[in-house]
Amino acid sequence: MSTQSPQKPENGRFRRHRPRKTKAQGSAQGEQRQERKAAAPAVPPKPPQTCKICGKPIFDLAGAFSAPGEGGEPIHFDCAIELIARDEVLKPDEKIVYIGQGNFAVIAQLPGGKFAIRKKIPWELQGTVPAWRREMMLSPDIPGK
Ligand SMILES: [Zn+2]
Repeated sequence: MSTQSPQKPENGRFRRHRPRKTKAQGSAQGEQRQERKAAAPAVPPKPPQTCKICGKPIFDLAGAFSAPGEGGEPIHFDCAIELIARDEVLKPDEKIVYIGQGNFAVIAQLPGGKFAIRKKIPWELQGTVPAWRREMMLSPDIPGK
């Protein structure tokens, strides 16, 4: 066991799209698996919500945000950050992260790996629940606990 833990300046839920796939396994003896594939799970009753920003489906509604303005349709977490990035003029050392409770923030990386919040950006008003999320909460079986 090592007691050393390198301190990485990781910021909560800030993440990027990474289309890279790491698993590229050959299927030498995978013929028997085809039978399993045939037993596909039941088709979900509703199609996934579509992101208003990028137009792609949102599979992780719990991690989605609502778009600003009327309707408040669900959008991807990453798309919310992109939206903010369009409005904010970021310096090279700044970036946008989610700091919790419906707030994003512009943070700056300081020398030494620390971060400073330069600007707090309220995104979702506390206490407001968009319709799509209310619906999700009411649904009896939420996939992916
Ligand atoms: Zn999106």
